[in-house]
Amino acid sequence: MKTQIIVLHRYAYSDSSWIVKALSPDLGILSLLVKGAKAKNSPFRAGIDPLAYSEIEIRYNKHKASSLIIPKEVCLRNYFPKMRSNLQNLALAQFMAEIMLKLGRDESHAAAEFKWLLNNLEYLELHSVKENSLSLWLQKLCDILGYAPMLSKCGQCERELLHGPADLWPALGGAICSDCLGARESSYDSLFLQELGSFAKGKNDLQQGSWQRIESFFVGHLRAHAGTLENLRSWDWVLETRRLAC
Ligand SMILES: [Zn+2]
Repeated sequence: MKTQIIVLHRYAYSDSSWIVKALSPDLGILSLLVKGAKAKNSPFRAGIDPLAYSEIEIRYNKHKASSLIIPKEVCLRNYFPKMRSNLQNLALAQFMAEIMLKLGRDESHAAAEFKWLLNNLEYLELHSVKENSLSLWLQKLCDILGYAPMLSKCGQCERELLHGPADLWPALGGAICSDCLGARESSYDSLFLQELGSFAKGKNDLQQGSWQRIESFFVGHLRAHAGTLENLRSWDWVLETRRLAC
């Protein structure tokens, strides 16, 4: 069968081969053994570089889905050369790839995850990173995975939150209004809750610091739900490239 892939990660298997982890819209995360791909004249070379978008032909055995697959053919579709030449764009793409790799496994979301990742790589090939890029990416990803936090309504009384949440209660799946919070103290800073409320309403004119707090919130939210996102190495790299850009 033929399937499209985005390469998320790879590591050396021997002097000549790579093991490649890639996201396929049809099959979820695949482990590919690509023999001889380190050779300069290998036809597979660019098509299995991290973040490459390729089409592969494989013999797929449903009953051995977790085993290593040896692709018969790898055809590069897009290498995203401009994205790679911009440090901030590249760092963001690497962060997205690491999240996808760690979330992995669940085939049922693969098609939507693939589309959303490809969509963003194509965007990063043509545009510079915007301040809200990562917040929007993370929000939609939570949505795809089925655990987007509810931010525009109170999780308890379901009232519309006109002035943002009064607190966030993970057990209720998101925000709570001031009446339901009552005399209890909010565990979040009120400025941040206002920012998050504005974001939930689709406002895009927030300050840079606000976007960074919103991103961190979504990374934390993903961590709490997925439980597999410890040691995100590429997250530190995203923060580092921002410092370099200032
Ligand atoms: Zn309420």
